[in-house]
Amino acid sequence: MKGAVGLEHCSGQPPGWVGRAAGVGQGTAPRHGPATAPGLRSGELEGIRGAGTWKSERVIASRQGPHLRLAGGGILNFCANNYLGLSSHPEVIRAGVWTLEQFGAGLSSVRFICGTQSIHKDLEEKISRFHQREDAILYASCFDANAGIFEALLTPEDAVLSDELNHASIIDGIRLCKANKYRYRHMDMQDLEAKLQDAQKHRLRLVATDGAFSMDGDIAPLKEICRLAEKYEALVFIDECHATGFLGPNGRGTDELLGVMDKVTIVNSTLGKALGGAAGGYTTGPKPLIDLLRQRSRPYLFSNSLPPAVVGCASKALDLLMESNAIAQSMAAKTQRFRSKMTAAGFTISGQDHPICPVMLGDARLAAVMADDMLSRGIYVIGFSYPVVPKGKARIRVQISAVHSDEDIDRCVEAFTEVGRKHGALP
Ligand code: PLP
Repeated sequence: MKGAVGLEHCSGQPPGWVGRAAGVGQGTAPRHGPATAPGLRSGELEGIRGAGTWKSERVIASRQGPHLRLAGGGILNFCANNYLGLSSHPEVIRAGVWTLEQFGAGLSSVRFICGTQSIHKDLEEKISRFHQREDAILYASCFDANAGIFEALLTPEDAVLSDELNHASIIDGIRLCKANKYRYRHMDMQDLEAKLQDAQKHRLRLVATDGAFSMDGDIAPLKEICRLAEKYEALVFIDECHATGFLGPNGRGTDELLGVMDKVTIVNSTLGKALGGAAGGYTTGPKPLIDLLRQRSRPYLFSNSLPPAVVGCASKALDLLMESNAIAQSMAAKTQRFRSKMTAAGFTISGQDHPICPVMLGDARLAAVMADDMLSRGIYVIGFSYPVVPKGKARIRVQISAVHSDEDIDRCVEAFTEVGRKHGALP
């Protein structure tokens, strides 16, 4: 495998750091608390293992990037949401370090007590400028932004209409609110229209959809959704976690791509994927709505302010994207290279020009053995099967980043072709 680029910095460790992954110091400290958890249903963990849905975590010993160092050696990484490669961008890191030094490790407070610094206000202003909205509010994650919005905005007299494949955090956020709930079939506009008709009896209607769906790399039909929303006087909410920074001519997201920036009322997104990849999320939209969230949204009111270093990294990532869309264009070119070479090799890639490139295989076992075989060739991709995706639609999800080189992409395609032939996915 090619040398692991940019790993020189990983040799040093901060003072007092103990290499857990290497097993240093393990098992020596006394452990307290009961050895069993009384509330745990018997056989629950075995059940998860038996169902084949146990999620294990691979320990990375380097920065996030296209080339990772693991305990067993280096690998070429195709499964991070680091679409623009900003997680380890030198200017982003420098901005994080500078902000850490100037503003400290953290606020030890929620925003409304003594947790708002000038950098939080500046980042909120930058986010609203980026999305061309009136105002923005920061959260510790987009999961929190989604958990906090529906309950704050909707009453029992209102209705929320949600795509059945929306992200878990939207589903949980909707569960927390008292509005009437409608779930429409994935991107099915006839079904949405029927549900909007039924929801006319309610005071307010809110249509909620992912902008880009992370399992299929498909993009919500926002033009049509906005047309229906206008017809039935509904608001439109989009989750742009897999779109912000790179979809659309200026990377503003799905609403820019589909020409409906003036029709989508609320945008939620993350700082934890394309925008530097640290953590954090936000809502951006009309000022009165953001004002209401500051008063009512529980994950905002009752959780700590974003750490300054995280704010500094995200702020720099937005500066870079507002200066130029060259990084997003580079990612689009790499995506195109991967999709066209894989299609020419005989694979079916789901989705539309999105850096999430699901290699459709159908059979769950095939997806698992091929993903394992890819890893044994130094290429890290993840297989997904039921219940994460529908039965018979198992796939290996590949995610392209601007920092993949053309050679990285070609190596991945070659490995897929060899592994596909070996396991009968290709003739
Ligand atoms: N929404 C979508 C569509 C996501 O994919 C994710 C992350 O996986 C989230 C929300 C949550 O984002 P965060 O990691 O900022 O909590």
